[in-house]
Parts: sequence; C-alpha cells; structure tokens
Amino acid sequence: MTKKRTYLDCNASVPLRREARAAMLTVLDVAGNPSSVHAEGRHARAVVEAAREQIALLVNANPSEVIFTSGATEANNWVLAAGWNAIAVAGIEHDSVTAPVSASGAERIELSVSTNGVAELDGLSEALAASAEASKRTLLTLMMANNETGVIQPVAEAAALAREHGVMVHTDAVQAPGRIPVDFAALGLDALSLSSHKLGGPRGVGALVVRDGVELPALIKGGGQERRRRGGTENISGIAGFGAAAEAVANEQDAAQHMAKLRDRLEDGVRRATPAAVIIGKDAPRLANTAYIAVPGKLAETLVIKLDLEGIAVSAGAACSSGKVGASHVLEAMNLGSEIARSAIRVSIGPQTHDDDIAAFLAVWEMVAGGAALAA
Ligand code: PLP
Repeated sequence: MTKKRTYLDCNASVPLRREARAAMLTVLDVAGNPSSVHAEGRHARAVVEAAREQIALLVNANPSEVIFTSGATEANNWVLAAGWNAIAVAGIEHDSVTAPVSASGAERIELSVSTNGVAELDGLSEALAASAEASKRTLLTLMMANNETGVIQPVAEAAALAREHGVMVHTDAVQAPGRIPVDFAALGLDALSLSSHKLGGPRGVGALVVRDGVELPALIKGGGQERRRRGGTENISGIAGFGAAAEAVANEQDAAQHMAKLRDRLEDGVRRATPAAVIIGKDAPRLANTAYIAVPGKLAETLVIKLDLEGIAVSAGAACSSGKVGASHVLEAMNLGSEIARSAIRVSIGPQTHDDDIAAFLAVWEMVAGGAALAA
C-alpha cells in the first residue's frame, strides 16, 4: 500500500484549486484564438478578459494594467531587462530577480538585510537621490514577502521613498496574495509580478501588472497580443485557471488565520521535540503560512529526504534550488552563519492544509531531526 502523503511545500506550488481545474477544463474546449474576429475567437477573448478582471480585482489594479506572462520568472525578467542604469535590490530576492539584475549590467544599489530577514532602508533615500540627480534610469525592486522565510518586506515605505525621488518601483508579490493584502494602487507601485501556481492556479502562467502610462519595452516580441506588450497566443486555459484561482483567493475570508493557527502548532511541536531548533525570522512580520526551521548540526538536504521517505513533502530553502547542494543565498544575505544556512528546511502550508497534516509532520519530526548531528 502506498503511504499517505502530506504536502507542506505550498511556497513552491499550491495544489490546484477545484475552481481553477473546473475553469480550465471548460476552456480546453474553446476552439478559437483570442485574436480572431469570429465568434470562436471572441469567445476565447472573453475568457482572457474575464480572467484579467479577476486578477485585477485581487490586487486592486485596473484590468488594463494586467499583462499575462508565462509566470513570475518572465514577469521579473521583463521588468529588469528594461535598460536600467541602476537597480536598488536586496540579496534576499528570488533568483528570477537576482539573475537578471546581474545580467543587466546596471549599477547595484545594495539594500542590507537584518538577521530577521527584513530588507533595510537606511541610506536608500540618499542613494536614490544621488542616482536620480545623476540622471540614471533607476529601478527599486523589493519583494512583498520572501519565499524562503515568509518575512514580509517594507514595500510601502520603500515605494514612498522611490516615488519621492522619481524612481520606478517594482515588487515581486508572488508569495503574498491570500496571505497578506496586496493593493497595487494604494502602494503606488509601477510594476508587480504574480504567479498563478502560488495561488492554486496552474503552473506556467503569471502576470506583470504595469501601472497605466508606464512604458515598458516588450520582452517577448511578436504579434500584437496584450496590446503589443507581450507577443504570443495567450495560454487561455492557463489564464482561465489563474483567474479562477485569483477569484477564489479574493473570496477566502479566514485563510490567513487558519494557516497561522496551524503554523503556530507546528512550530510549538518542533520546539518541544527539538529544543535546539531555530525558527528563522520569528521576530519579524511573517506570512502566516511559512515556518523556516534550522536544526544546527543537521543537513537540510538530509532532513528533506528523510521527511520525504516518511511521506512528508517540504523543501530545503527555495524549491528552485533543490538539487543544488549548498547554502541558501537568502540565509547568507541574512548573515546567520553557515551552520544555520546549511540546515534550514521550509515548511509551508496552504488553505487546504489540515490539523492532520501538522500531526503527521510532528509524528515523525523527532525521529527525523532529533538526536545527534547527522553527517556534516
Ligand atoms: N518569485 C518568487 C518569490 C517565487 O517564490 C517564485 C517561485 O518560486 C518565482 C518568483 C517564480 O515564479 P514562477 O514559477 O511563476 O516563474
């Protein structure tokens, strides 16, 4: 008999919501291309525009500001490729931000990071003022919440500073919807990245929300889709699933409280079973769904494999880094030391997580992580 699986890796991907699945199945039978003028084409167009409205509503943007992409990696690459002379960025960003920042050749204005995982804004105002004065095309990019630690970043404050100096501001909001409020208009942002599969929509679709009036050269050139901003026939079933997931998230009332209760229960159990465990970022504002746990002396990869063998899915640092042995760049940026950086596992829960899942994790945790240190 196969062992019952317990999925606690929702910052990597949230399981497909039933609303998203239903929407996608319906759309698979839509024959038309959204760019075609006939009835079938208009039907496909209506699917795309309905989803655009659902996503705009989730983040309080205008539908005209939502541009569909293949995911947040594309959205982040697109913003960062727009010919910046200088980019203000912290070392905790996702690889889909840090890699294009490095590739851009732009001068890097480095935001320091506290040991709690919060990007610090000291000196930012002066740095942005100097950059603006030197007529450098400058972008500030700061994620809303970190995918590894769950730590919420001071995006509102950073955006206010950027605006003061006429600097463009982008946020990678991938981990935020359904966990903390996201208000594109109120934050005064120029651009915001979203990913469908972090909301319980399908993988391989996302959006860049770009403030009306902001000109961003197309990254993917081709047809006139997305008002000439992103070429390529739209992934209409993916977009429909993304829209349905966004609507489901927007309508969920108590998901954050539900997840916070489960996360607290999990962390209490971990502390009792393994008193040496360190809960990373616990004194900072955090997403309700994320527990980042380091057990000094244990290797994260070993913990992940042992938990997997016991039927529990979690990850070591970022999902994208699985398969890559080594320390998390986020923990390195937080200066927590190599022992913590090598031993941290992320447990991330979702709206579908139940008490039973937390109980299943805690039932094996001491056996997996307790006792003497594993091979260094
Ligand atoms: N940004 C953050 C913070 C993420 O957690 C992820 C996915 O892990 C991405 C960007 C990339 O999103 P996508 O999988 O849609 O390309």
